[in-house]
Amino acid sequence: MKNYSNELSYLLKQKTLLKQKKKNKITVAIIGAGPAGIAAAVQLKRAGIGFLLFEKNKPGGLLNNASYVENYPGFPSGIKGVDLVKKFLEQLVNLHIKVRTEKVRNLSLLKKEIRISTDKGEYYTSYLIIASGTKPKKFPADNGDIKIHYDITSLTKTHNKNIIIIGGGDAAFDYAVSLAERNNKIKILHRGNYPVCIASLLRKASKIKEIHYFGNTEVIDIKKSTSEALCFNKISQKHYSLKFDIVVAAIGRESELGFADKMIKKYIESENNNRIFLAGDVINGKYRQVSISTGDGIKCAMEIIDPPVFVRQRKHPETKLKIQL
Ligand SMILES: Cc1cc2nc3c(=O)[nH]c(=O)nc-3n(C[C@H](O)[C@H](O)[C@H](O)COP(=O)(O)OP(=O)(O)OC[C@H]3O[C@@H](n4cnc5c(N)ncnc54)[C@H](O)[C@@H]3O)c2cc1C
Repeated sequence: MKNYSNELSYLLKQKTLLKQKKKNKITVAIIGAGPAGIAAAVQLKRAGIGFLLFEKNKPGGLLNNASYVENYPGFPSGIKGVDLVKKFLEQLVNLHIKVRTEKVRNLSLLKKEIRISTDKGEYYTSYLIIASGTKPKKFPADNGDIKIHYDITSLTKTHNKNIIIIGGGDAAFDYAVSLAERNNKIKILHRGNYPVCIASLLRKASKIKEIHYFGNTEVIDIKKSTSEALCFNKISQKHYSLKFDIVVAAIGRESELGFADKMIKKYIESENNNRIFLAGDVINGKYRQVSISTGDGIKCAMEIIDPPVFVRQRKHPETKLKIQL
């Protein structure tokens, strides 16, 4: 006799999967709730388009690390990074926009949709905005032996410590200014011969007595046993050691696209791409700034909102009003 029970359970499984797929079908997905992703969400909400906003970590992204933002219009005396994040989040609350704490692990390009796999589920979206920002470049001698901090969000309560910061750019100096506020003693160790940060930040840092800058200094190794950084001075050609309590590395960042395989990246760059948009630091190379990221987020959302997309569907996304052509 034919075994119908297997066939039946197979069909039931397929039906459940289909139901699940329908339930998790969205118009737009946004990866990352930093400034770019938040701005995109606000713009989509204004247009009444359904979306999900995924964030693996803390909303606000890298902006949570900025000591003082002086170049975001609308704040004449500047604003602390965390306070600007608070304002962004207030706007999300006012607009009833929820951030889903889910890490996007993988994307698959299907015929008409993009499948998003997160650590909590699977979603199917027509459009995708990638606003995943950047990840830090790893310090070459980092073998996991000792905790090296690549941002300072976990150091907000640290005080009276000897901190070495490896790097000599905007991030290194910005971290130094933030950490020095709580009486930490900071040594910035830079292999270049002059700071490469913006003038206003350099002026601010040079007035803070807790901050010391060591140029021409290459950090060769970090010794856990003695809590020492082994340094090499390129001018004197001498090795020496510096004691520390905490190490921070700020030696550059690169695009965070770990969830996108070769096929997705190829599609993003192809002429046919009209479904996946990149916004903010993830795409901006050296132009990594909050205002550029928010502008990008709005622009990507507008590409999707662009009336033809919805006119083709012959109904307005929010009102379901039939459109007469
Ligand atoms: C110390 C410091 C000081 C700064 N000062 C200034 C300043 O004064 N002025 C200025 O304009 N800019 C400043 N910046 C730069 C500014 O913070 C960034 O340009 C801005 O945060 C970029 O926004 P973004 O949304 O593109 O990316 P990010 O802020 O990096 O946000 C990306 C978000 O995506 C999330 N994400 C990544 N991968 C996944 C995944 N797989 N699943 C789910 N979520 C994911 C991340 O967790 C993150 O929250 C500073 C940066 C630093 C580090």
